[in-house]
Amino acid sequence: MTEQHGKPIVSGPAGNTDGEISLQGRSVSRGAVVGTALCLYGGKRQFYKKEIAGEQVDGEVMRFREAVDASKEQLSTIASDGNGDGNQARIFETHILFLEDRSLLSQIESMISEQRVNAEWAVRTVIDKYASRYKALTDKHLQEKYIDLEDVGERILSSLGTDSENDLSLDSDTVIIAKELNPSTMIELSKRNPAAVVTENGGWTSHTFILARELDLPAVTGIKQLLRSVENGEKIAVDGYEGRVILRPGKETIDNLKSSKHEGINLGDTELDPGARLETLDGQEITVRANLDLSTDYGPAKKVGAKGIGLYRSEFLFNRYRGYPSEEEQFKIYSRIASESDDHGVRIRTFDLSINQVSAGLAGREKNPALGLRGIRLSMRFEAEFRIQVRALLKASSANSISVVLPMISDADEIKWARGVISEERERLLSAGVPCGDPAVGVMVEVPAAVFAIERILDASDFVNIGTNDLVQYLLAVDRDNEEVADWFRTVHSSVIGALGKVLQAANRKGVSALVCGEMAGSPLYTPILLGLGARELSMNVNSVPRISALISRLAIEECEEVLKEIEGLSDGPDRDAEIRRIYQNKWAGLFDFSSLLTFSRR
Ligand code: PEP
Ligand code: MG
Repeated sequence: MTEQHGKPIVSGPAGNTDGEISLQGRSVSRGAVVGTALCLYGGKRQFYKKEIAGEQVDGEVMRFREAVDASKEQLSTIASDGNGDGNQARIFETHILFLEDRSLLSQIESMISEQRVNAEWAVRTVIDKYASRYKALTDKHLQEKYIDLEDVGERILSSLGTDSENDLSLDSDTVIIAKELNPSTMIELSKRNPAAVVTENGGWTSHTFILARELDLPAVTGIKQLLRSVENGEKIAVDGYEGRVILRPGKETIDNLKSSKHEGINLGDTELDPGARLETLDGQEITVRANLDLSTDYGPAKKVGAKGIGLYRSEFLFNRYRGYPSEEEQFKIYSRIASESDDHGVRIRTFDLSINQVSAGLAGREKNPALGLRGIRLSMRFEAEFRIQVRALLKASSANSISVVLPMISDADEIKWARGVISEERERLLSAGVPCGDPAVGVMVEVPAAVFAIERILDASDFVNIGTNDLVQYLLAVDRDNEEVADWFRTVHSSVIGALGKVLQAANRKGVSALVCGEMAGSPLYTPILLGLGARELSMNVNSVPRISALISRLAIEECEEVLKEIEGLSDGPDRDAEIRRIYQNKWAGLFDFSSLLTFSRR
């Protein structure tokens, strides 16, 4: 069998590996499985090809017609809200014309009824066919109409809404194959228990793969042309340790994969006492908490010794079909999570959503959504939704230990604004006789501006959560979701280390709790660096808690500080990762098994 990055190579006649195709990518969640491929298509609304029974055809055609009507209605509303912008109105009129094109619509309907496929598949296939016709035209103006057509296709797909309940089942060995996987699709898939995920694009810190690790779902990314190489129903082996997939795996490959052991860190079989105090070899107490993103149980985290929930990403409660959860729904979920996390409590982050997640119509075309209306900025724009969330949090904190975390903060005034809203809502609730608590209010430090404004931010906050995923992204100007620039996502870049040091030292000096809660906190390779920088609180994916806790109990702060000094002397050049490994190996021979750990830059 032959391997090549992203390019399928069919092997020659080599024993049991005959006919296998090995594709090399990057591991983004550990684990190995052999399963059956299911290809997912689409942008925001992702779907797969599904055959339907004869008696379902009429219903499916009706579903399609309703989606077309809903799309037209949306476009008319947006066009009439267009504040007199003639260009925008013309674009939407063009889109409406596509939705009234009898030939286009009847081809989609015929495909549903003749080929007995789901509406999503028919829409995609017919729109793709039409779009390629436009692309082949020589007239530039007409050629570009394919963009409008694809837009219309996405809109119909979104309007098709969620699939029926019947679709909520996947075979237990299903391996999801996609160009990219949206976090919202991952949440939907999580209810159907797939076996693994493989994509063309994505990064270690993208929310999709944060969720995959939380779900213990093997995942590999960075395989170019994946959708062209894999057929639906094909047997596929996913090696989430080595970051590769093998199509048509032979018996030998399957046996090897099943028996492969990748412990990552050689930590023996240490059993951790969940109630025990966790300390380093030199007696420094370290608090390890869990990140919780889905409204799943805190139970497993508690069992492995997590001391509460350091980050609950409430935006995963937002559903693009149903919108924001109601105050009552939020109240119930926050209360449940908080009561499970007992005295250690939960830090609930207010919605960290972007405008294009909330409203395709309002988003316009944000060129840089990561720099756009998101996090606290969106809450300031949609104050009514923020107030609803605040009320739910205040009520849930009456009987539980809840702290509120504000996302994407870049200056102290944003904190003052949010605190103002919180105290107004609190006064209103109390004067109406509604019991509510007085939650601590902290912020995510994840925007470089917050690092430079850290003294003011600490004065305005009760605690800080350091979000290394975004901090690295924004400091280095490297998109965390873009596989193409994954090599530039250098978590150990000297500017990242410098920024973390500045925040941790300032917080420690002022005696304000500073919790590192990005993916960096859950990767053993970073533990010595973080401890050396002064981190005493870490929050991570539940599955990382045992490994990181066991590692912490084998390190001394003094040694971590020594290692950090050596690292600070290194250049940022290409040898930096290898040099850090060498330093670790000299210091802690046997503690780190580098053969199966990913490189620094990719994590
Ligand atoms: C972070 O940015 O590091 C973080 C914890 O938040 P998120 O990954 O949700 O952006
Ligand atoms: Mg963030």
